[in-house]
Amino acid sequence: MQKNLYFAPPAKNEPVLTYKKGSPEREKIIKALEWSRSNVVDIPMIIDGKEVRTDNKIEMHPPHDHQHLLGYYHRGNETQVKDAIDAALNARKKWAGMSWEQRASIFLRAASMISGPYRARINAATMLAQSKSVHQAEIDAACEFADFLRFNVQYMTEIFNEQPDTGDLKWNRIEQRALEGFVFALTPFNFTAIAGNLPAAPAMMGNTVVWKPSNTQIYSARIIMEIFMEAGLPDGVINTVFVSGPVAGKVIFSHPDFAGIHFTGSTAVFQNIWKEIGNNISIYKSYPRVVGETGGKNFVLAHESANARQVATALTRGAFEFQGQKCSAASRAYIPDNLWDETLCEIKADMTSMQMGPVEDFSNFLNAVIDEASFDKLSGFIDRAKKDKEAKVIHGGNYDKSKGYFIEPTIILTKDPHYVTMEEELFGPVLTIYIYDHNKFEETVELVDNTSMYALTGSIFSKDRYVIEDVMKKLEYAAGNFYINDKPTGAVVNQQPFGGARGSGTNDKAGSKLNLLRWVSPRTIKECFLPPTSYKYPFMEE
Ligand code: NAD
Repeated sequence: MQKNLYFAPPAKNEPVLTYKKGSPEREKIIKALEWSRSNVVDIPMIIDGKEVRTDNKIEMHPPHDHQHLLGYYHRGNETQVKDAIDAALNARKKWAGMSWEQRASIFLRAASMISGPYRARINAATMLAQSKSVHQAEIDAACEFADFLRFNVQYMTEIFNEQPDTGDLKWNRIEQRALEGFVFALTPFNFTAIAGNLPAAPAMMGNTVVWKPSNTQIYSARIIMEIFMEAGLPDGVINTVFVSGPVAGKVIFSHPDFAGIHFTGSTAVFQNIWKEIGNNISIYKSYPRVVGETGGKNFVLAHESANARQVATALTRGAFEFQGQKCSAASRAYIPDNLWDETLCEIKADMTSMQMGPVEDFSNFLNAVIDEASFDKLSGFIDRAKKDKEAKVIHGGNYDKSKGYFIEPTIILTKDPHYVTMEEELFGPVLTIYIYDHNKFEETVELVDNTSMYALTGSIFSKDRYVIEDVMKKLEYAAGNFYINDKPTGAVVNQQPFGGARGSGTNDKAGSKLNLLRWVSPRTIKECFLPPTSYKYPFMEE
C-alpha cells in the first residue's frame, strides 16, 4: 500500500566508455567475447517466467564468421504464442495494480545492471551476434538501453504528476490506467536497446507484454530477459516467443484482448500489420494503440557554403557506421557541383583508411551485414548499379560471403535523382550521391522533399543562416529528426527524441513522454465535496 509520494532518482545519460587500449573496459570486453565464442548457448523462450524449449532448435552464428556456432534458440509455433498471451493476461491484474515506484525500481535496477555488471556481456553479445563494433555496441546495448529505462521512469513520473485544474468544492484527478488487454512488442535486429525498450516501456506503465524479437537478435535478447528477471520482473509480465512474424501476427491480431503494438522495423511489415489490425477492428475490446517506427531514406544536403571536410565526415560516419544498418543512416546525398571535387577528395581520404572485418579486431570500422538475405539484396543493388547507365560505382562495390557477410562500403554516383538507390531503403553500407547544379539549389531542396516516401532523418550543411532557415521551413515534413551541420545519425535519449513521420512511422518518439502516453488510458475522476441537493439553477428563481 503506497503511503507516500516519491521522487524517482533524476535520470542522466550513461557515459560512453572509450575501450582504449589498456582501459579496464577493454580487458572486460575481450574476456566476455572470448567466453561467448567458446560457450555454445541454448536459448529457450520465456513464458510465464518459465523456460520453454521445443524440438525445433535453430543455430545462431556471428554474421562476420558464419561457420562459428554461438548457440541455438528454440523455435516455437502458435501454441507458444497463445500461451504467452494467456500468461500476459493472467499477470495483468497484479502488475497493473502494483504501485508505480515498485515497477520503476525493477527497471532502474535493470539499468544499473546494464551499465554495471552486465555491461560487458550484453555488449559482447551484441558485437558477436549483430556484428557491431565495440563502440557501436557500447552506444546501443549499454548506454542507450540504460538511458531508455532511466529516462522512461522520469517521464512516467512526469505523466503521473500532470493533473487537471481543481477547486474548493471538488477534486479533479487523472488516473493513468494500463491498457485493458496485452501489448505486443515486435522488435528489429539492429538495436539491442530498441529490442529491450519496446517491451519495457509498456510494461513500465503497467501493461503485460508478448515480445517477439527478431531471429537475428535472439542471442542478445536472452540477456535482456535475464536482466529483467534478475531485476525482479514478475512472471508473465514480459513473455518472449521465438516464432515467425506472420505466425505471431496471426494469433495476436485476431485476439479480442489485443490492446496495442509497439513496433520497430520495416515500413512494408508495418503497413501489413496496420491492414490486419484494421481488418479485425470489430473483434477487439478496445481500439488498439498502434505505434510503429519504421524505415528511412535519410538525406544529407550540402549547400555551396558548406565545409567539404565536415560534409565528408557526416557522409562516411553517417552512411557506413554499423554497415549502414541504422534506420537513421545517411543513404542519399546532394552535393553542389562547385563543392564536389573537394568533397570527393575528403571522402576518398576517409575511405582509403576505413577497414572492414570481424568485430574482435578493434581496428575495423565496419563489420558484416546481418545475414545472407541482406547480403544478397545489397550485392544485387551493387551489381545493378555497375551495369546501369544512370549510375557509377565510384568506391567499393566488392563483396564476399565466404567467411562472413561482408559488403565493402560502396558509393554510387547517379545522374538521375530518382535512381532506385536514391529512393529505396537498402539498409546496408551503400551511399548514393547526386551532384546538383549549384544554381538550382531551390529545385534540389524540392527534390529532397519529394524523392522518397520516408521522413526519418536528414541534414543540411551550410554556413549561410538564411539558407539554413529557408531549408528548415521547406523541409518541415521531410524528417522527424533534422540535423544542422551534423550527420543524421546518433540520436541520444532525452536529447534528440527519435522518430519520423510519412512512411517512417507514427512519430511517437521512442524514449520520450509522448511514447509512454500511448501505453496508458487516462481515467478522469471528479469528486464533489458538497453535492447539490436541488435540480434548480439560480437563473430559474423568481
Ligand atoms: P523487419 O521489418 O524485417 O522485422 C522487424 C520485426 O518484424 C522482426 O521481429 C520480424 O521478425 C518481424 N516481422 C517480419 N515480417 C513480419 C510479418 N510479415 N508479420 C509480422 N512480423 C513480421 O525489420 P528488421 O530488418 O529487423 O529491421 C530493419 C528495419 O527496421 C529497417 O527498415 C529500419 O529502418 C527499421 N528501423 C527503424 C527504426 C526507427 O526508429 N524508425 C529503428 C530501427 C530500425
